[in-house]
Amino acid sequence: MSSEAVNGAGVVIVGGGVTGLSAGWWLARQGVDVLVLEKGIVGWGASGRNGGGCSHHHSPLFLEEQRLWPMMDELLGYPTEFRPGRIRLACDEHQMGLYRRALENGEYQGFHSDALDPRQVRELVPLAGDDVVGGYHYHFGGHANPHRTVQGYAWAIEDLGGKVLQHTAVQGFVTAGGKVTAVKTDRGEYGCDQLVIAAGPYTEQLAAQLGATVPVMPARAEMIVTEPLPLMPLGGVDGNGLYGRQTLRGNLAYGGGPHEWLNVDDIEAHRPQSTPLTGDIAARLVRLLPKAGHVKVIRSWAGFIENTPDGRPIIDHLPTVANAIVATLSSVGFGLSPATGHAIQELVTDGRCSFADLSTFALSRFDRLEPNWRELQGWRPVTTR
Ligand SMILES: Cc1cc2nc3c(=O)[nH]c(=O)nc-3n(C[C@H](O)[C@H](O)[C@H](O)COP(=O)(O)OP(=O)(O)OC[C@H]3O[C@@H](n4cnc5c(N)ncnc54)[C@H](O)[C@@H]3O)c2cc1C
Repeated sequence: MSSEAVNGAGVVIVGGGVTGLSAGWWLARQGVDVLVLEKGIVGWGASGRNGGGCSHHHSPLFLEEQRLWPMMDELLGYPTEFRPGRIRLACDEHQMGLYRRALENGEYQGFHSDALDPRQVRELVPLAGDDVVGGYHYHFGGHANPHRTVQGYAWAIEDLGGKVLQHTAVQGFVTAGGKVTAVKTDRGEYGCDQLVIAAGPYTEQLAAQLGATVPVMPARAEMIVTEPLPLMPLGGVDGNGLYGRQTLRGNLAYGGGPHEWLNVDDIEAHRPQSTPLTGDIAARLVRLLPKAGHVKVIRSWAGFIENTPDGRPIIDHLPTVANAIVATLSSVGFGLSPATGHAIQELVTDGRCSFADLSTFALSRFDRLEPNWRELQGWRPVTTR
């Protein structure tokens, strides 16, 4: 990543996760002078620790997500390992009914799916059990490799002349005339004409320095990875409360609740490693894919998800300064990232998004949020001190 001296940029982006990087890449593609500031290394947050799912059929950005993913390797010039399509297996009749909703929502938006009987499931998913009830093959969505994708965005920004500075923590902002004019970091100040805050769980703290309230609460979520198994015809198989994929090497990489709520100040002190909860994920994975029951778990980790009160992203102009945009994705940020970056680019360059209605992502929906919303929602933080 960039090492030469930089004094600022037309657009400074805080956060080198998929949201900030995709925005930086889209802006650089438009010829905008862009600088991404990341306090650690790119993808160290949730962006490098997630399940890789790209199937957000409830989102207004869904059509753009689906349009872009199949082209991303070519557009970035780097591999994301995107694979299209998903299969969701039902371990019981209740799950079969529940998972049908995705089929109906996909069909409503013009995407086809197939309902699978147990024999069809076993053909497509050789690791499925003999007692599987059925499933759905969604001919939309898919999955990609989070690490490759994060790296691809960062390299693609630099290929286009943009800058990505790692190990540079944003500490505050300089404002003048109702605008942000510079970003203060532990390595000096960087001037800017426009600012994008895409700092995941830290977005609330940073926006507060500009007088804005952006409600976000972090939750710790965990994933496990098994030894490799022979490749299944389709790597995107989930269900039984799990999300994940089979990697191109054959490993099963899976996660899925329960989430542990945290205060943002406790993230650094809290474990990004795994806990005994991984045993629960492994047990559910064996129920989902019984013929993988003999392989060992070889790796596990945790990541911190940025949750808004209603579980929907916030992508909007900050109301308190004239030249800042905030984007926090509330657990759906990886898959939506190609579309999110495009939307942020248009907000910066054109003031509005031309391809999707972002009104449900507006910050103003939280104008009357109770100060104790976390408590009211029962999101009780685990304390570490
Ligand atoms: C276990 C797990 C599984 C998931 N599975 C999926 C999935 O299958 N599909 C999906 O779409 N989503 C999934 N998600 C959610 C997804 O990973 C996130 O929504 C997404 O990565 C958010 O990206 P982001 O760039 O907005 O935030 P982040 O990835 O949190 O990036 C923010 C960055 O900002 C940096 N930063 C913070 N403060 C500062 C500062 N002061 N100065 C400089 N830099 C700063 C951080 O270091 C971080 O790198 C999952 C998340 C987890 C944890």
